[in-house]
Amino acid sequence: MMSEKSKQHVESCRFCWMCHHICPIGNATGLERNTARARALGLSLVNRNAIELSEVIDNVYECACCGACVHDCTTGWDPVMFTKEARLDAAMEGVLPEYINALVDNCLETGNAYGVTELDGALVSEIEKHADKKDVLLFLGVDARCKVPVAAVNAIKALEKANVEFSVLADEPASGWQLEYLISAANETKEQMEACAKVLNDYAKVVVFDPQDAKVLKREYKEWGVEVNAEVVTYTSYAAELLANGKLTAVNCGKEMTYQDPFQLARDLGETEEPRKVIAAYADLKEMLCNSGDTMWAGNLLMKEWMADVIVRVAQARIRNAKGVGADTIVTASVSEYASLKAVDQDEVKIVSIEELILGA
Ligand code: SF4
Ligand code: SF4
Repeated sequence: MMSEKSKQHVESCRFCWMCHHICPIGNATGLERNTARARALGLSLVNRNAIELSEVIDNVYECACCGACVHDCTTGWDPVMFTKEARLDAAMEGVLPEYINALVDNCLETGNAYGVTELDGALVSEIEKHADKKDVLLFLGVDARCKVPVAAVNAIKALEKANVEFSVLADEPASGWQLEYLISAANETKEQMEACAKVLNDYAKVVVFDPQDAKVLKREYKEWGVEVNAEVVTYTSYAAELLANGKLTAVNCGKEMTYQDPFQLARDLGETEEPRKVIAAYADLKEMLCNSGDTMWAGNLLMKEWMADVIVRVAQARIRNAKGVGADTIVTASVSEYASLKAVDQDEVKIVSIEELILGA
């Protein structure tokens, strides 16, 4: 069921090894199976009916879809495209691994892959303060709401500091990014996105806190014809705008900090300067290896559900990159990367989110 275009990318990629050094998962595991071309080799065998998709399906879910290989591929092949098509095929053929099926069921039943049905009490209180309808909506996303409520609370408080009037939804819909990652362009994913778009269209502007949501809202919605009339902006670009127009005032603490570019912002949406403007207002920015469009993913909460030990090693590698340039603080703009980096047992490099940076000053 794979498209001819994807088959061509599979056949071209399977002979090559040129991007194996930039895969964060391959680097963390040291395993050949965690390279783009190894995935292509497996899928090539499936396309030739030599093996069943179910025989390589675990490997298909060992990819973060971070796009580092796509970005690095000088010949222009796209492993993310064929990996996502393989996931859609697996969903349609009923050969998803059980651990993925369970997460998909949670997405459909509760709106989040983790199956969380009750929000943290402190977050509920913060959300209640912004229940009135305003022109601007702060969209928190499932990771912040369900797994890292402290990030959601701080995101709200940082905007309060700028005296912005905004709403936060108690029953915020899922943007569909988790289903898009798990089963790609399935009908269920599009239906979740359409339901979300209906809610967002009640607002003039939507400030999207989580880059994972921002990526689908600004990219996949358009590609798949899901219309959002509201202006969609990332939290980081909105914070940069608040600083530029004087609604936020910053004091530079003089500390050297480095920035962990989320691939969704830096590669998928081309946003690299806005977060740097925010950090440079509060601290001295020091770049680490693999920054901006060359960023190296630092882990996420969704994959932690089935690859917890690998996520720790991915985050450890990024902390080593920060230490390598002598930075004692990593600033994150992704809830998932913040949580992954924070979960590493170490005390040499501080992990600070953009919203904490604003609140700290
Ligand atoms: S994505 Fe490009 S560089 Fe990487 S293995 Fe495939 S063909 Fe080679
Ligand atoms: S998309 Fe990222 S995780 Fe997947 S093979 Fe490419 S570099 Fe590795």
